[in-house]
Amino acid sequence: MTSSFWSPVVGTLKPYVPGEQPRVANLVKLNTNENPYPPSPWVLKTLEAALRTGLERYPDPESTELRRTIAAHHGLQLGEVFVGNGSDEVLAHAFQAFFQQGLPLLMPDITYSFYAVYCGLYGIPAKTVPLREGLRLQVADLQEPSAEAVAGVVVANPNAPTGIGLPLSDIEQLLRQHPNRVVLVDEAYVDFGGQSAVPLIEHYPNLLVVHTLSKSRSLAGLRVGVAMGQRHLVEALERIKNSFNSYPLDKLAQVGAQAAYEDQAYFDRCRQAVIHSREGLSLQLEDLGFEVLPSQTNFIFARHPQRDAAALAAGLRERAVLVRHFRLPRIEQFLRISVGTPDQCQALVDAVRELLALPV
Ligand code: PMP
Repeated sequence: MTSSFWSPVVGTLKPYVPGEQPRVANLVKLNTNENPYPPSPWVLKTLEAALRTGLERYPDPESTELRRTIAAHHGLQLGEVFVGNGSDEVLAHAFQAFFQQGLPLLMPDITYSFYAVYCGLYGIPAKTVPLREGLRLQVADLQEPSAEAVAGVVVANPNAPTGIGLPLSDIEQLLRQHPNRVVLVDEAYVDFGGQSAVPLIEHYPNLLVVHTLSKSRSLAGLRVGVAMGQRHLVEALERIKNSFNSYPLDKLAQVGAQAAYEDQAYFDRCRQAVIHSREGLSLQLEDLGFEVLPSQTNFIFARHPQRDAAALAAGLRERAVLVRHFRLPRIEQFLRISVGTPDQCQALVDAVRELLALPV
């Protein structure tokens, strides 16, 4: 559909297509990289208490206590931490604050598909660099003859949907290649085995690291994302947020997120459980003939050389197992499978076995 009332940009937008959030129960939901485990009991207790106190008042617009907790957790100052409603919102602010410069933004092809969506929305040309053999990024490919010719760089580390991480030495190389531009490192999945660039913040004024509580901290439903960088970067994000009248985090999100950082033991148990299941599931899929990329995330990216990925995804859906299939060049034969509980992983393996036994 189009309409003569639309501004020219609306017609050009290719909005993000979110993963399915099914309305029926009893599906094994391995399609949107959520945590299969519920939030920590301490988070639930804190939320219940918050429900009984002060919801008639506005929340703290600065999310001060939450930011203080996050800063302490990472050894940063309060002014080096920004929070938003999910990391997608934090990314939106960052794209506006740093990348709207009339120059192309460098990013790998393939990566998190929202980056291209924000480029479309904010009129930022994207300059993509193809992944190499094995869907790996070679950071030297992001080197430009003139570092001033681009608006900045965005990478997901580990990358999505490949699951492959870069070593910190690669991130440092990017930061040095682009000293006058922001290098945004989206660490949505870092807690499942990646190397975080947060310790580099004090050395690099051009580094912005983005985290989410949707994955390793089991709070996708609460919508909390974080950006960390030197004060001048955080100040830019605050200016965008406050000019936009974008909402601060609501009270429940602020206290729930803070409680999630307070229960470090639960966080560690959950992520270890996910990592353990991921390793087991990768081996089982390999035994079933899949090529599995080495994952440092809470999902697996895999393809079966003899089976069509779209047909496999559809067959799994018929068997009540949801996985993600992207109809994109180079990765159209891959499935992205979020790591579930041991029971959910078993249900997936059983369904795959059944499908593979069928004639092609
Ligand atoms: N970055 C990456 C790489 C992701 O995969 C996701 C989740 N789809 C996000 C950011 C956004 O997560 P959220 O908005 O839930 O914080």
